[in-house]
Amino acid sequence: AKTIGIIGGGQLGRMLAMAAARLGFRTVILEPQADCPAAQVADRQIVAAYDDPAGLAKLAAASDVVTYEFENVPVEAAERLATEVPVYPPPRALEMAQDRLTEKRFLSDCGIQTARYHAIDSQADLEAALTDFGGQGVLKTRRLGYDGKGQRVFRSVDDNSADSYADLGSVPLILESFIPFVREISIIAARSADGMVACYDPAENVHRAGILHTSTLPAKLSSDAAQAARSAAEKLLAALDYVGVIGIEFFVLADGSLIANEMAPRVHNSGHWTEAACVVSQFEQHIRAVSGLPLGNPARHSDCVMQNLIGDDILSVPDWLKRDNVLVHLYGKTEARPGRKMGHVTQLL
Ligand code: ATP
Ligand code: MG
Ligand code: MG
Repeated sequence: AKTIGIIGGGQLGRMLAMAAARLGFRTVILEPQADCPAAQVADRQIVAAYDDPAGLAKLAAASDVVTYEFENVPVEAAERLATEVPVYPPPRALEMAQDRLTEKRFLSDCGIQTARYHAIDSQADLEAALTDFGGQGVLKTRRLGYDGKGQRVFRSVDDNSADSYADLGSVPLILESFIPFVREISIIAARSADGMVACYDPAENVHRAGILHTSTLPAKLSSDAAQAARSAAEKLLAALDYVGVIGIEFFVLADGSLIANEMAPRVHNSGHWTEAACVVSQFEQHIRAVSGLPLGNPARHSDCVMQNLIGDDILSVPDWLKRDNVLVHLYGKTEARPGRKMGHVTQLL
């Protein structure tokens, strides 16, 4: 059987490995942490850093194709790998998604609207940018932020911005204009090597403490807005000559127009509902795309709500298991630290 290499051993890698196994593939993961969620289901783990040349060489030798489950795979590592084995999605997608400044420029170049922004490389830059935005904005680290980490919101000129540049680590930052959204949505889309595109229905997402809490289908969205999300996805996928699944987050304004927030060149938390409400999940879709199989039909057979189980939410699992039409999915993590994603449930409606 063919072997699919997966960089990263978290829950997304685990769910990719499960989907791959069901299609008859072997999986090998590259992950420095020995006891990781994906190791429990993959056929093999290479325990090495994501940029370790020896580990990458082993991964290339063991794999017919390599993919990844997180967007912070070192671009040079992905490019080096790509000289030996196909790497999907293309490393350029990593490059565009790893830095919020590059990402916003790329989205704009594709004709997709984003928040206004200023690059921030000093406290003085921040003060000037906040003045330009009337004291409002969302300050973010350009790299490595997730689950709302590395962010600071300014709601008015009265908010104290002193030391904010240092507080966020004196690293390159971006100040985005504050978007007064009425809701947030995301679209999960896939593209095959021969250029076919499949889009799942947009999900409506609610965050709690910066972390995705629920994704609800259908989203409360006009058909024009849903179409705008699909066409944005198609533009991005074509511009990157993309192969695999991508997740794109949008803000929805009161007039129904969309503003792109960010993209993730991988399967996405807001697409977990697809395993319960579609015949072909985002995980299977990604495996199909990167392995050269035809894409599956992304149609949704049920309305649903996906809810993340964060930290102690794991204690509610016995209750979820008693309910009808709930798919419970746990990641095999033993320690339920606050803010840690332990699993998710999808309630079909
Ligand atoms: P993820 O875990 O989705 O990768 P992240 O850490 O990359 O999250 P963002 O998606 O950029 O962070 O922001 C997290 C949340 O903060 C958004 O979903 C939204 O609710 C809010 N937010 C982010 N940027 C803005 C903005 N410019 N205006 C208003 N709200 C914002
Ligand atoms: Mg993000
Ligand atoms: Mg986000």
